[in-house]
Amino acid sequence: MPRAFITGITGQDGFHLAEFLHDKGYDVYGMVKGQNNPRAAKLQEELPFLELVPGDLADLPSLVAALQIAQPDEVYNLGAISFVALSFSQAELTANITGLGVLRMLEAIRMVGGTQNNPIRFYQASSSEMFGKVRETPQTELTPFHPRSPYGCAKVFGHDIVVNYRESYDLFACSGILFNHEGPRRGLEFVTRKVTNAAARIKLGLQHELVMGTLDAKRDWGYAGDYVKGMWMMLQQDQPDDFVLATGETQSVQDLVELSFAAVGIDDWQQYVRQDPKFYRPAEVDLLIGDPAKAKAQLGWEPEVDFSTLIHMMVENDLAIEAAKGR
Ligand code: NAP
Repeated sequence: MPRAFITGITGQDGFHLAEFLHDKGYDVYGMVKGQNNPRAAKLQEELPFLELVPGDLADLPSLVAALQIAQPDEVYNLGAISFVALSFSQAELTANITGLGVLRMLEAIRMVGGTQNNPIRFYQASSSEMFGKVRETPQTELTPFHPRSPYGCAKVFGHDIVVNYRESYDLFACSGILFNHEGPRRGLEFVTRKVTNAAARIKLGLQHELVMGTLDAKRDWGYAGDYVKGMWMMLQQDQPDDFVLATGETQSVQDLVELSFAAVGIDDWQQYVRQDPKFYRPAEVDLLIGDPAKAKAQLGWEPEVDFSTLIHMMVENDLAIEAAKGR
């Protein structure tokens, strides 16, 4: 059986990827940080096939030890401080985990897999936030980066060091430049889930207001389940390369709010939504829209779930969760 090792296993993508690889017949190892990680126990219940190993992206020896246990054919580096807003208040931590963590993972792979003919294939979770103040629209693999947050800056370092290690040491290392992807497992701190959850709670009478930052920002939003398939496809190629995964469509935060409230049968959403400057970021990314043409042509990858279906899926999930809490 092929063996896969995933960092960030307790996050949204970690769950979807672990399920996907298990269905493909992989032995799946997931790295968890901390001495008593509460998300790990819950995850082990949901995915009993998972082998959990300890490790932290801040700690190179722990990464080496984790790889020695897992002996993986494929490594997916999804671990990160991934919330853009937090990266402004904890910029050094973000640089250390989201940026330098990638370098540590690559070094661990060289130590465990060898400096010559290393057999381990590596996937790095790069991000559309690297494009930031976009230089062209839509954004492709060749669009220059102009990050607008410490998170985006750390991801640029991670992306560049993957390219550098691929070229310097002949590693099979790929970087997926993924545009926003969401789903019922998205953390409540992220704007899509914040909105779908608030719409559900307002519908159920559990909450009376939704406080937002900007409603004007536009994003290219897809479904996480589609995107993890693209990660795997990248590692099945003959040659390592970098790919944009995106839907090629963009919606505003206001579109997201309107659709979420409409999904619970509320048309006058303005009555419930208030904007507060405390949610504005020091530097905002106004518009992201990706061009997934290369992934479509070379990988045969295409997103299957559209924006409206995605938001309805998330709202229904939140309605079920919140209604159950009420009972
Ligand atoms: P997520 O839900 O926020 O998960 C982040 C994961 O990173 C969690 O499992 C977290 O573990 C782990 N982590 C944090 N600090 C760590 C450390 N010091 N050592 C090891 N692991 C650590 O993120 P996601 O949405 O699944 O995204 C997966 C990856 O794709 C991230 O790198 C993200 O930046 C990137 N990405 C995401 C999107 C998107 O729209 N979702 C788009 C582009 C790129 P704990 O649970 O223990 O904190």
